[in-house]
Parts: sequence; C-alpha cells; structure tokens
Amino acid sequence: MTNITIFLGPPGAGKGTQAEKISESFNLPHISTGVMLREHVENKTELGVIAAEILNKGNLVSDDLVTAMLIDRLDNSDCKDGAILDGFPRTIAQAESLEIDDLEIRNVILFEVNEEELIKRMLERGRDDDTEESIKVRFEVYKNETAPLIDYYNNKGVLNSVNAFGEINDIFNKISKFMEL
Ligand code: ADP
Repeated sequence: MTNITIFLGPPGAGKGTQAEKISESFNLPHISTGVMLREHVENKTELGVIAAEILNKGNLVSDDLVTAMLIDRLDNSDCKDGAILDGFPRTIAQAESLEIDDLEIRNVILFEVNEEELIKRMLERGRDDDTEESIKVRFEVYKNETAPLIDYYNNKGVLNSVNAFGEINDIFNKISKFMEL
C-alpha cells in the first residue's frame, strides 16, 4: 500500500520548497508533475512537444496525459511505501484517478497564502512560464479547476491547512506535525 501525501495550494505557495524538505526528512520521494513536465519539454519528448505551449500559457496539460505520467511514476519501486505529490491532482478528474486499490490518500496539506504575496514571489523567481499573463491564467485555473479539491478532500476528512506565509522553517515544522499524525 502506497501512502500518498498531497501538497495542495495555489501556484507560488511554496509547495516545491517544502516538499523538498519533507521528502528529505521523512525519506519519501517528492513527485512534482510540474518538474516532470518541464523535463519532458527540455528533452523534447513526445509529451514535451505537446506540453510546451500549454505550460507557457499557464493552462493545464490534459488529465489523461498527466495522469498516465504520474501513475507510471508511482509504479516505481521507490514509491512502494509512500510519496509526496506536489502539483497533482489539479482537477477533480485527476483526484478520482488516484482512487485505486494500491493507493491511500493519507494526508492533504493545504497551503494558504494571500494572492498578492503569491504574485510577488512568482515574479521574483522568474521561471520561464512566470510571465504576468501566464500567472493570471494560472490563478484563474487554480480557482476554477483546483480549488474544488479543498472541499473534496475536506469531505474525506484528510485535509490539513497550513498558513504558508512566514519563515520556511516554521512552515516546515507545521507540516512535519501533520506528517506524524
Ligand atoms: P506552479 O508553481 O505554478 O504551481 P508547477 O511546477 O506545479 O507550477 O506546474 C507548472 C505547469 O505544469 C502548470 O501551470 C501546468 O501547465 C502544468 N502542470 C503541472 N501539474 C499538472 C497537472 N497535475 N495537471 C495538468 N497540468 C499540470
């Protein structure tokens, strides 16, 4: 049985930064669909060629493609005990695709940060897809497609919220407590 922890929250909330630290501290693989997709783009794979323009515009890659990529990754032996998912699921359909026998959604950490702070952080980090236009699109997509997952997981009784505005180490300590539940 693979125990899944999901990091949920808007773009720029610090999910990747915290997932790195939690991954190391709890010895669990950190799986970021954003990182995986950017690698595909860089390596010009079949998926990368399809995803490149979608990523730059801030839209979502199709559920089918991202889900296939993720499930394939979870099949790796390093995930047999557990994994941290960062950036997946991003839609209800993706969440439903995790409802399979060998997986258990143990813990969903919701990162809460106000939008003004998020935009500031994203413009500072300056990734290729962090243009003002694509940031706007990503927030819209988050509100429409991803935010419904908050109720979805709250109803399942697995949601834990963290105020993600503050010191990296303080936030790490708060998340660690939830990992130990
Ligand atoms: P952010 O910090 O903006 O959340 P990510 O690195 O998580 O960035 O994702 C970057 C981009 O990769 C997204 O804007 C989207 O185009 C694509 N992407 C990542 N994960 C998914 C997913 N689960 N479903 C669809 N598209 C995804």
